Parts: sequence; C-alpha cells; structure tokens
Amino acid sequence: MRFKDRVALVTGGGRGIGAASARLLAAEGARVAVSDLDDGPAREVADAIGGLAVACDVSDRSQVESMIELTLKEFGRLDVLVTCAGIIRDNLLFKMTDEDWDLVIDTHLKGTFYCARAAQKHMVEQKYGKMVFLSSTSALGNRGQTNYSTAKAGLQGMARTLAIELGPFNVNVNTVAPGFVETRMTRATAERMGVDFETFKLGAASQIALRRIGQPEDIASVIAFLCSDESGFVSGQTIYARGGP
Ligand code: NAP
Repeated sequence: MRFKDRVALVTGGGRGIGAASARLLAAEGARVAVSDLDDGPAREVADAIGGLAVACDVSDRSQVESMIELTLKEFGRLDVLVTCAGIIRDNLLFKMTDEDWDLVIDTHLKGTFYCARAAQKHMVEQKYGKMVFLSSTSALGNRGQTNYSTAKAGLQGMARTLAIELGPFNVNVNTVAPGFVETRMTRATAERMGVDFETFKLGAASQIALRRIGQPEDIASVIAFLCSDESGFVSGQTIYARGGP
C-alpha cells in the first residue's frame, strides 16, 4: 500500500499504459482521477477502481485547469501526476504536415506543460508531489517521428528543469521512456504500415535483448516506483524501460 492516503491523477488513463498505471496506483491505496480525451474509456477504468473519471483534452489549458480543480474538489489534494496522454502522427519529414507537427507537440509537450503547471501549485503548497511524464525511446531518434521524438526528448528536458525548480518544495519529477509496448498505439502503427499486428510484435521482439515486447504493466510498475517514496532521492531522471540497454 505505497499510496495509502495519496491522490493521483493519470492523463491518458483510459487506455494502455495510463490505464495500467491507474489500476496499479489504486491497488496500492491511491484515490485516482482517471482522465482521458473521451469520457467512455476513462469511466470504464475509473468505475473498476472506484476512481473519478474526467474527460479532458490536455492540449486545452482551460480543460486541464478544470480537471485539476475537479480532482481537488473530489479528493481534497493532489500528490501524484502521471502524464500518459499521447498520440502519434508519423511521417517522413518531407511528408509531415503542419497539422501532424502541431497535434503531436500540443498533446505531449504543451499538454504536459499545462498539467505540470496546474498541479505544481498544490504540490508546492503541501510540500509534497511526484510527477512522472511518459517519454519514449523515440527521444533518441526514430525514422518517421520528427514530431514525436522532438516531443519525447523535450519532455526529458522539461522533467530535468522542473526537478530543479520544484526540488526545494519536495516535488520529484522524472520521466519513463518505454520501448515497444503492446497498446492501441503500437497496433495503429502496424495498421498504418500494413503489417499484421502479430507479425509486427514478433519482429519487434526479435530486436529486443529480452526477446519480448513490453506490456503496459511492465511500464506501470516503473511509473509506480517513481511515484512512490521508495524513489524519494531520484529526480530529474529518465528510466528507459525497453527490455534492454
Ligand atoms: P494509448 O493506448 O493510445 O493511450 C493513450 C491515451 O491518450 C488514449 O486513450 C488517447 O485517447 C489519449 N489521448 C490522446 N490525445 C489526447 C489528448 N489531447 N488529451 C487527453 N488524452 C489524449 O497509448 P499508450 O501506448 O498507452 O501510450 C501512453 C503514453 O506512453 C504515450 O505518451 C505514448 O507516447 C507513450 N509511449 C508508448 C509506447 C508504446 O510502445 N505503446 C512507447 C513509448 C512511449 P484516444 O485513444 O481517444 O486518442
């Protein structure tokens, strides 16, 4: 029960890595606000864990501020912020549109900035907080992902900077950078490439040192570690969870 008496907010919590994280935090005692773009997936996860469902587009500042206020109104505090909301719009640079760029940057970078800024106010006041942002191995560079890799590298810089700014207030800020994880996002990539998902997964696994792809729970457990007091002296770091170095 590492999160007894703690309140957590997970964006992108209706699916994939966010949903697994919301479930794990709740299983270990947290009261969890499960946020997602659509109400349906958020509600499904929230109902199963006795949490609060919040529909929110993280790229919209007023919606993010309302989401934080609603969480505080319901639970009275906010201790943990996990930002999993994300999308991909892959294309080679010469085919990447302004819309592809803006949508990905706005969701990952601006969305996390809005969430972190709104959450820090309460974390600083209570002198306690944990933030974990979802980066990716794509931060190291990935063909067809100029927008996404820029955003994911940017999130690592954001976490390092916020670790410095918020450290004096006992707020830890870290990122987790997964490799290939089986979710709707990787399924969509296979579909776009015209490859059967099972074949796609086998191909990915063969390139990974542990010879398997990741599951959302593999990432949720790293996120939970960084949200817990076990990692109280870790801040501004990125943990790569990719089944290899
Ligand atoms: P996922 O299953 O697609 O979940 C992402 C969730 O974010 C979806 O429910 C999506 O809603 C939601 N979302 C999209 N745009 C949003 C917005 N503007 N506001 C609020 N929510 C929004 O993907 P996942 O694989 O779990 O990804 C979670 C995070 O891990 C992402 O940041 C992703 O970049 C990162 N990541 C994933 C992998 C991987 O291999 N899966 C690897 C590295 C990093 P809709 O479904 O309605 O669009």
